[in-house]
Amino acid sequence: MLNKTLEKKYEVKFTGLAVGKHSFAFQIDKSFFSGIENALIEEADVMLDLCLEKQNEHLFLLNFKFTGNLLLECDRCLNKIEFNLNQKYDMVMKIGNFDHKTESEDIIFISPFVSKISIVTYVNDFLLMQIPLKITCDMVDKECDKVMIDRLNNLSNK
Ligand SMILES: [Zn+2]
Repeated sequence: MLNKTLEKKYEVKFTGLAVGKHSFAFQIDKSFFSGIENALIEEADVMLDLCLEKQNEHLFLLNFKFTGNLLLECDRCLNKIEFNLNQKYDMVMKIGNFDHKTESEDIIFISPFVSKISIVTYVNDFLLMQIPLKITCDMVDKECDKVMIDRLNNLSNK
């Protein structure tokens, strides 16, 4: 379930735009993830530059550019890890009916009666894909907190 206020904050209105490129900027931080139920990421400091290119009335190309850090927790010692992000992601938006022939993960279909989209789900899904399955301190060339590991081990043994 998504929070309505959050959806509104990360909304892009695409009707009425001229053919060509349009830029939008969004800040992805703590407030972004606090609006998402069961968010796996808690904190972040990421700039999102979104370029929306209108090719014609039915076709838009979206380019998401993320730069910044996600604040993750080490799986072993719970230390905070600043995970650097510098990624691009392209998506195609088609206005019209869903078409099985061109169905793909990176293509979304939007009803002709809709004038704006919220990018919350796409952004959240993309960021989640960037997170490694196992998050450990050595990912950022740090050592795990041994005292903390001992303490956690003691807790799980009790
Ligand atoms: Zn660690």
